[in-house]
This record gives sequence, C-alpha cells and structure tokens, in this order.
Amino acid sequence: MQKLASDLRYHQHRYYVENKPEISDKKFDEMLRELQALEQDYPLFKETNSPTELVGSDLESGFEKFEHTVPILSLSNTYSTDEALAWATKTVRAAEKINLQWKVDGATLVLYYEKGNLIRAVTRGTGQLGDIVTNNARTIRSIPGTLKEPVDLVARGEVYMTFAEFDKFNEESEGIYANPRNLAAGSLKHKKSRETARRPLRWVAFDLHLQSDPEKFQSDSELLAYASKLGLPIFDDNELVTFNSEKDLSRAIGKFENKREKVAFPVDGLVLKLDNRFRRLDLGFTAAVPRWATSLKFEPDLAQTRVEEIEVFVGRTGRITPRAKLEPVQLAGTTVTYATLHNADFIERLGVRVGSTVKVSKRGEIIPAVEEVVDPGKGKPFIFPSRCPSCDSKLQRPGDMVDWLCTNPSCPEKEINSLIFFCQRKQMDIAGLGEKTIRLLYEKGFLRNVEDIYKLKENSEELGNLEGLGNKSVQIILDGVDKSRQKPFRTVMASLGMKEIGPFITDVLLQNGFDSLDAWLSLADSDTAHETLDDMDGIGPDTATVIIEQLRAPENRNRLAALAEAGLQMQEVREESNLEQSMSGQTWCVTGSFAHFRPRDLAMDEIRKRGGRTTGSVSTKTTHLLAGEEAGSKLDKARKLGIEIVTEDQFRKML
Ligand SMILES: [Zn+2]
Repeated sequence: MQKLASDLRYHQHRYYVENKPEISDKKFDEMLRELQALEQDYPLFKETNSPTELVGSDLESGFEKFEHTVPILSLSNTYSTDEALAWATKTVRAAEKINLQWKVDGATLVLYYEKGNLIRAVTRGTGQLGDIVTNNARTIRSIPGTLKEPVDLVARGEVYMTFAEFDKFNEESEGIYANPRNLAAGSLKHKKSRETARRPLRWVAFDLHLQSDPEKFQSDSELLAYASKLGLPIFDDNELVTFNSEKDLSRAIGKFENKREKVAFPVDGLVLKLDNRFRRLDLGFTAAVPRWATSLKFEPDLAQTRVEEIEVFVGRTGRITPRAKLEPVQLAGTTVTYATLHNADFIERLGVRVGSTVKVSKRGEIIPAVEEVVDPGKGKPFIFPSRCPSCDSKLQRPGDMVDWLCTNPSCPEKEINSLIFFCQRKQMDIAGLGEKTIRLLYEKGFLRNVEDIYKLKENSEELGNLEGLGNKSVQIILDGVDKSRQKPFRTVMASLGMKEIGPFITDVLLQNGFDSLDAWLSLADSDTAHETLDDMDGIGPDTATVIIEQLRAPENRNRLAALAEAGLQMQEVREESNLEQSMSGQTWCVTGSFAHFRPRDLAMDEIRKRGGRTTGSVSTKTTHLLAGEEAGSKLDKARKLGIEIVTEDQFRKML
C-alpha cells in the first residue's frame, strides 16, 4: 500500500504539476483502484493523505471555521499603470527587483502542511476566519497531499479553471454557470467532495510561509522556486524585473498586457511585489495592506449602452432566463445587442431596469454580461414573471435553486427549443430545419416532438403549400431528415436533451462497452444499474440516479422506440472494418475554421473513424493539433507543449 501510494503521488506530480506524464490515465486509474480496494480491506493502514482521496466522497460536509495562523493579506490595487509605476518609484530602490505575476481571477485557498502532509485547506473567508474545505481540496489534482520535504508551512494560492475546461464543463451542465471564477469558488464549497472531484479545478501557489524558519529565503523568487521544488505548482511565466527606471517596469507590464488575450485562464490584472523579503519588513503596512506590493488591475473591455427591453426565455429544460436587449454597441471587436442577466436575483442585485444605462463587458470566450448600472433608480422597474411566458403555467423555484422553472412538460417553448436543439449542426445537423422553419411547422401542427421530424415525409404535399416554404425548401428538409438517419448512435443519444445525458456521459457509456440502445436500456433495467454506472469514471451516484430515471421514463422509452422504428442509428458502428486504423493511439484536438471540414466535427469524425481519439482542449495527452484558420490560444499552447501541429492540407493528405 505504501509503495502504491508513493508511486501514485509521483505520477500525480508528473502529470498535474510538471505536465510530463509517464503512464497512461488508464494505468493511473488502475493503480488508484487497486489502492482503494486495499484500503477498503485494511482501513487501519490507510494514510490520511492517501491519493485515493482524489476521487472524493459523498459524505456531506458542513464547513467548520478556522482562524488563519498567518494573516491572508489583500493588496492595494489600481487600474492605472501610472499609479503602479508611481508605487514602484516610491517603494523600490534602484536595481532592486520586482516580481510580476498574473493576478488570477479565481478563489483563494490556503493550504496548511505539517511535516510535509496536507492537513488542512481553508478558504480566505474574512482574511482571518475561513471555511475548512480540506476534503474538497484533496480532490484537486494539482494539490499535492504530501510535499517532497517534511516541512511545516502555509501555502497561499488560487483555485481556478481554464476557459476551455470551463466551457466544456458548462456546456455539459447546460450553460448554467456564469464564469470560471464563480464556478471555481462554488466548487470549492460544494457539500459533496465527489462532486468537486468532477470539476476541472486547478490550484497555483503564490506565497509560502515557512513555520520553522520564515526568513530562510531572502527573496520571493527563491521562495517560489523552493515551493516548486517541494512539488507545489507555480506559474512559469512570472517575471523578475530589475528596477532602474519606470521604463523597465512599464516595458514588462506591456509584455504581460500583450499576452493577456492568450492566457488560457481568467486573469484580471498583475501583482507587483518587491522581491526582497527582508526589505518588506522595513516597509511594513499602511492600514490593512502591505506597502511592498500592489496590484495593477486590467480594465475589462467595457461598453456603455441602454437597456431597451428585458426579455425572458424558456429554455428546452424549462429554465427561465432573462436577457437585456441593448441599443447595439461595439465591444471587443463585435457588435453587442444582447447581454445575459442570469436570473431574477441578479437583476435585483444590480438594479437593472428597462431604460437603465449599463456597462457591459466581455471577458474571455464568454457571452457579454451586464456589469453595472450607471444610473440606478432610473427607468421602469422590471417585474420578473410569475407565470410562464409561453404556456402561462405557474413558475416553480425548486429547493435552493436560483432559477425559475416552467414544469409543464408540454410547454410550447420547451418543445420548440428541444426541436431546435435536436436539429442543430452540432447535434443531428438537419439542413432546412432552422429555428424559423421549426417554429412555423410547430405552429401549423406538423411538429411537436422529435419523432414527428421523421413523419414529415408523409405530409410533404401539405408542407409545400405552407406560406414561406416552397417545394424546394421541403425537399431540402426531407433530404436533411434522411441524411440524419446516418448520424451515429452517440449523436442521437446526446441530441435528445435528456437530463445529464450529453456528449460526455454518452462517451463514458460507450467507453464502458454500452454501445447500443438495447445495451443502455437493459443496463437501466438491471438491479445493479446504479452500482455499474457509479463505478464508471466520470459518473457519480447522483448522476447515476438521474441517468437511470431518464432511461426508465416511459416518455423517453416511447420516443427512443419511435426513433429506432424511424431508422435512426441505435448501435454505435465501429468503422474500423473499412478503414486502416492509422490514428489509433493518437489524441487529436481540432481548432480553428476549415475550408473542407465544415463544421469541424467532420474532421473529428474522420479521426475517430481511423481509431483516433478527439478532445476539446490541448493537454499533455494531446498528440496532434489540427489547426485551421484563426486557431488562437490552442495553437499557442500546442506549440508550447511541443505537440505535432497539422494543417488542413497535411491532414487531407494523411486521410
Ligand atoms: Zn411553459
């Protein structure tokens, strides 16, 4: 057990901190499972910091408070580069060094190690008193349970999420999270660590306090290098600037600002710290903040405009989402006409009204959001509807949810949006069935649910007579419908919008050998369904329960039977029989836009047909990046990791 634990720790570090894995994920998971089994049989020998804690547990935890043993400082901040330069001129002597680091937009997490073992993880809280979230922190893979030296220390850092990982996770969660920071902070305080374990969290160290010998290192840079030596992750693009004139510093700041757009995770500014820790003691504090550091915050891209209207939408799941219709305004290179308002609480908190003048921002790859109301109190107050704008049934707000829901199963907007979702390019890709046509066919009674799509042919004559739909458009629709019968089983399942059953869960089931509708249904019906699903990587007990409910629900059963009857693919076809498996063992990430592969899923299909795997983000596991036009940050990251980059031309030759 000791050997396994120490091997696992080594590989965990290679993978999550150094980005240089030596073994496959599968092998890692096997070792983890072996240790888990041993710990179950011999609980007496389980270490408190066992790597098996990475998978989390389902015990609910209330959070106890903990008083930080070192003050968790906040920094003075400014939005002006001039003020940051003035701080340096006032504080830093000639030829002294300033440490420049990204200010990550995440959630502060302080780790307490004793004799090199993680004993406690605490949120920043008030700065003096935080919440103990140790079990959740143990599921974050870049946090080592044991350091490479048996030291007592306090490590301060930030929990964050990359944009790519956020987008992926959010997409699988039906887009309910506003931004990576909120999701990271919320995940840290989730009551079940098993749920935290599902979320792609990372942690990075910014500061260390060595309990036995706080003054061991004279400089911040040496201290961080030591942190890294102990196995704690640090950013590798921190910059040490020798300060002789403002020019040195302003050049370095400019360099970071230029890189800002390409950073893979959210940053909201820079931290500037005097590197010499002894000098910090002389400088001390003003009021609550240290004199020896400051932060320069980036101005988010903001635009000011007026709210013309507040609209509410009923999504396919029944969630009611408000959004602001704006007077069109230019922002970060695009014209913005809508901004999300998230939910009723958000509107009330910000005081958004119809006619308000607001500032909107766009950060990273996220839809524009209203940041603040410039003229609070002006305009017409918005009253959030209590009844569904589509079907007029009374809205519900179950449990502690922030969202209002329409629970009427035959609500027209829910049905229409489910149809739109099903026909989308990313899903069944039915040409001719865009939103406008779907609304028309719904209104005329030809479409109620997805099964009806496959009955359209029977009514082709009547369809041709509809206003706005000639015979030609009808033919396009019918051809599109026919073609969708060839869409693989995985796409069919992920297009139905059953709760939790999206591309991720579908993939997990396929990888576990459940590759046909029959296999899925008999799994759902079996007595051991819950156990079997829960055992799969990526599926926790709550998710397992929902999947079973969905697959047992009579309306879903009927729908699936009708779709099978209509000739859709209900068995995942392995196409290796016709094609050489030239890409087996390879993991491809596809990014940018292409001349021949539109949408780019077509390129991914080609890769899968040849035995390759595809992934949504670039990581050390990625072996190839297929880069189209405007490939962006993934291309930079792939270069950095030395991943083979393939152009569209080269790719076509390979095929
Ligand atoms: Zn409704």
